[in-house]
Amino acid sequence: MDLNTITEVRRPASADAVTKWENGFAWLAGGTWLFSEPQINTHTLIDLETLKWPSLKASKDGLEIAATCRVVELDQFVEKAPSDWTAAPLFRMCCRSFLASFKIWNEATVGGNICMSLPAGPMISLTTALEGVCTLWPRSGKPREVPMIEFVTGNHANVLAPGELLRSIHLPATALKKNFAFRRFTLTHLGRSEVLLIGTRCPEQGTFLLTITAATLRPVQLRFKSVPSSKEVKDAIDKAVPFDLYLDDTHGSPAHRRHLAYYFAEQIREELSA
Ligand SMILES: Cc1cc2nc3c(=O)[nH]c(=O)nc-3n(C[C@H](O)[C@H](O)[C@H](O)COP(=O)(O)OP(=O)(O)OC[C@H]3O[C@@H](n4cnc5c(N)ncnc54)[C@H](O)[C@@H]3O)c2cc1C
Repeated sequence: MDLNTITEVRRPASADAVTKWENGFAWLAGGTWLFSEPQINTHTLIDLETLKWPSLKASKDGLEIAATCRVVELDQFVEKAPSDWTAAPLFRMCCRSFLASFKIWNEATVGGNICMSLPAGPMISLTTALEGVCTLWPRSGKPREVPMIEFVTGNHANVLAPGELLRSIHLPATALKKNFAFRRFTLTHLGRSEVLLIGTRCPEQGTFLLTITAATLRPVQLRFKSVPSSKEVKDAIDKAVPFDLYLDDTHGSPAHRRHLAYYFAEQIREELSA
C-alpha cells in the first residue's frame, strides 16, 4: 500500500550516518510489514538495503546472518551448508513457515521478521532454537550482544531501544551440528503458525533443548542434560509456561495451544530419544 505519511526516504551508505533518532523514523528492511498497513506515526523511512551487508558468512565457528539477509537466501543456503551442519534443513522448514510464505519470501528479511517480534515469527523460532546471539547497534554507545532467547519480550515487543539496529545473528557451529526435530501446526493450509516447536539434541553430550514458539507470547526454551522422560518434559512446560503466556487469537485458543505444546513436545522427545 502507499504510505501517505512518508515525507522522506533515506538511503544511507553507513548506519553511522543516522546519528540523531527521532520519533517518526523507521528502519526499512523488506517492507513486507511496513507497507502492509498504515504507518500513521512514521514520516521517514531509512532503507537498510544500501548498507550492503553480506547476507551470509559461514565459517568454522558457525553462520553469521546479516539482518538484511532475505528469507529466500536463507532457504537456498541449505544446499550450500557444510555437510556436518545436521541442523541446516531447519532453515528451509522455518523459511516455509510463514503465513502464505511464497508471497513474502523474496522481500522479507531475517532481521525484519525478528524485529517484528510476532509470536509466529519463524526466523525467531529458527535462530532461538539454534542458540543464536544477536548483535545490536545502538544509535549511541557500543554494539551489544543479546542471546536470541532474550530478544523477544512479548507479542510485538523486544529489547531494542529506539533507533537501535539489529545488525546480525550468529548461529554457533555447535548448535548447527545437533540433531533436531520440528513440529508445527496451522489451522489452515499455508496459515499462520499456531504452534511451532523445535527440539535439538547434542550428539556428543546428549543435551536436549526444547524451544516453544508461536504458541506463546514470547519464545520459551527448556534445557535438559539428557532426553527427559514424558513427565519431566510436561512438568517443565507447566513450570515455564503459565496459562496466560499462551497466545489467544483467531489462530488458536490458549487451551488448544497448550494441548499441542504437550503433544508435540512428546513427539519430539520420542524422536530425539532414538
Ligand atoms: C501475507 C503476509 C504474511 C505474513 N506472514 C507472517 C508470518 O507468518 N509470521 C510473521 O512473523 N510475520 C508475517 N508477516 C509480517 C511480515 O511480513 C514479516 O514479519 C516479515 O518477516 C517482516 O520482514 P521485513 O524485512 O519485510 O520487515 P519490514 O516490514 O521492513 O520491517 C518490519 C519492522 O521491523 C523493523 N526493522 C526491520 N529491520 C530491522 C533491523 N535490522 N533493526 C531494527 N529494526 C528493524 C522495521 O522498522 C519495522 O518496524 C506477514 C506479512 C504478510 C503481508
